[in-house]
Parts: sequence; C-alpha cells; structure tokens
Amino acid sequence: MTKQTCDVAIVGGGAAGLNAALVLAQARRSVVVIDAGEPRNAPAGHLRGFLTRDGAAPTDLLALGRAEVEQFGVVVTDGAVTGAARSADGFELTLDDGRTVNARRLLVATGIADTFPDIEGFAERWAKDVLHCPYCHGYEVRDQPLGVIAETAFFGIHQALMLRQWSDDVVLFTHTDENIEPADREKLAAMNVRIVSGKVAGLVVEDDELTGVRLADGTVTPRRAVFVGGAITPVPRDRILRDFGAETTDTPFGPFVAVDATGATSIPGVWAAGNVVDPKSQVIVSASAGYQAAVAINMDLIEEEVGRAVEAGRILG
Ligand SMILES: Cc1cc2nc3c(=O)[nH]c(=O)nc-3n(C[C@H](O)[C@H](O)[C@H](O)COP(=O)(O)OP(=O)(O)OC[C@H]3O[C@@H](n4cnc5c(N)ncnc54)[C@H](O)[C@@H]3O)c2cc1C
Repeated sequence: MTKQTCDVAIVGGGAAGLNAALVLAQARRSVVVIDAGEPRNAPAGHLRGFLTRDGAAPTDLLALGRAEVEQFGVVVTDGAVTGAARSADGFELTLDDGRTVNARRLLVATGIADTFPDIEGFAERWAKDVLHCPYCHGYEVRDQPLGVIAETAFFGIHQALMLRQWSDDVVLFTHTDENIEPADREKLAAMNVRIVSGKVAGLVVEDDELTGVRLADGTVTPRRAVFVGGAITPVPRDRILRDFGAETTDTPFGPFVAVDATGATSIPGVWAAGNVVDPKSQVIVSASAGYQAAVAINMDLIEEEVGRAVEAGRILG
C-alpha cells in the first residue's frame, strides 16, 4: 500500500481540478490529482464555448490538460477517492485500491452525474440528439425541428423560449407538467412555440438519428433533436464534502454544497470548484473556478507558513 504526501490534493481531474492543479503547481506547490476518469461531457462529440478549443473532443482537452500539469510536476493518479478524514496536519484520502494521499489542503472537483427520466431511448441518444444545453449543442441543430421535454413547466418554458434563438420550429412537450399559466401560454404563442400535451413515452430513431417523439397515446411528432429542460437531474458527486459536514444551499436543482467566491466551503481547509457546487458552470467557467480556488488555497498556505515563521522567530528571539 503506497502513501503520498503533498501540499494540495485535488479530487477530480476535469476542467476545474486540472486548472487548479496548473495554477498551484506554477505557485510551486506539490499537487496530487486523483481522477476517476468520468468527466460529465465525455459522451459529447465536441466542446463549444471555449476559446481556441472550440470543436475539440472533450476528452482530448482533458488529455492536453493532464500533459500540461504533469510538465509542472503535478502527479495525476487514476482512481477514485472512497474516503476522506482529517489527519494531524491536514487530510488523508483513501483511494479505491487502498492507496492513501495526505495533503495540507483539499480541493474537491468531482463534478455531477446526470440521472435520466424513464423515457424509452433517452439514455441511448444522450449527447447525440437528446441534449441539455443550447449553448453546448444549439449551433449543431440550428434551423432543425426541435423539441423540449418539460419535466417541470418552469424549465420547459424557459428552454423552449430560449431555443427560438436557434430554430423557428420549436415544440414544447408538456410531458409530466401540464401546468402552464395563461401568461406563459401567451409568450409561447407569441414566439410561435407549439405546445403538445401528454406524457412522452419514447423516442423514434431511424438510421441512428432521432426522427420523432412518441407520446404514451402513440402519437408521434417529428423532431430532429430534443432538449431536456429540467428532465434530467444533476446529482452532485459531493459525498466527501457531505461526510465532512459541509453546509449546503438550496438551488433550483436541489441542495448543493455552499461555497464563497473563492470556492471555500464551510469546512476549514476544504475548497470545492466546478459542477460539484455549480451545476450550471460550463467548462471554461469550471476551469475559472478552479483557478480562483487555487489562488485562495495558495494564500491560505502562505498565511499558515507566515504564522509558523513568526512563531519560530519569537521562540528563537
Ligand atoms: C452532454 C454534455 C455536453 C456538454 N458540452 C459542453 C460544451 O460544449 N461546452 C461547455 O463549456 N460545457 C459543456 N458541458 C458541461 C461540462 O461537462 C461541465 O462544465 C464540465 O464537465 C465541468 O467540469 P468539472 O471539472 O466540474 O467536472 P467534470 O468534467 O465532470 O470532472 C469531474 C471529474 O471528477 C472525477 N471524480 C468524481 N468523483 C471522484 C472521486 N470520488 N475520486 C476521483 N475522481 C472523481 C470524475 O470521474 C471526473 O473525471 C456539457 C455537459 C454535458 C452533460
């Protein structure tokens, strides 16, 4: 069983974790990144909205990121952290293969897992033509017949109105929430969004392409892609943070661990960045959150070191 020690342990090697690792390593901190290798956008064919990397495969971006941080001495370890506890001088992490990592500070950047509704074909078409984010996928399906499956009317209406920016042909499937207020009906009608009532039972796929949305009564509405306003549930991979007793805050997606602007949690010495604390943050935003957390962690370590130096000086003097 091997044991590693470092200034900062980062759990999760996605955009948030790797960007934090880069900044900390360039601040001459020893850093270990432990990564289970399941970034949220891995099923997507391309990355959008990231300057200079537009269209790249998401996993290629992370492979480049890994290579970059390793140049500065970061140790990137494949594996999953299964336990975390306080130790004499910080934290001890346990990995799924029994290895341990000891660190003075901890950054959790473990992302989220999306859970899918019970609609036939949904999981199979995920990130192909079952889509969640117009900014990630809207451009690819511009001017196509689009649908929005509304698990809740609130998200469905919001997304259907938004999608009119990408297509003139948008249908809102009320699915499990028929409760659309007259004012919202007026907005949808004004923007030429058609409402189709009834529960969605499945997706029609031909030649590896979505061609329609099938209701429980058998009716099929031809569509080329569907967005899932609220029909997926983002579940934060925050067990480590919760086990430490980190405070949470309510969001429209449920409770998420609360952080300040630097990513500090309510637990001293523990930061969190990226999707694990903000389900809306895209890749560049998650990377930026990792950057901010790294700067705050480095400063926290500097303050500790200055305090120790002052104490040592007093003893000697
Ligand atoms: C289908 C799809 C397409 C998307 N397309 C885009 C796009 O085009 N542009 C864009 O900007 N955003 C896009 N996004 C959003 C993007 O996925 C997130 O912004 C980004 O992944 C968040 O980065 P992160 O570092 O917080 O988490 P992630 O990238 O999810 O990385 C977290 C990492 O932590 C690891 N991990 C989890 N638990 C543990 C553990 N216990 N121990 C060790 N490692 C662990 C995971 O395996 C994973 O590798 C898309 C999302 C989806 C679902």
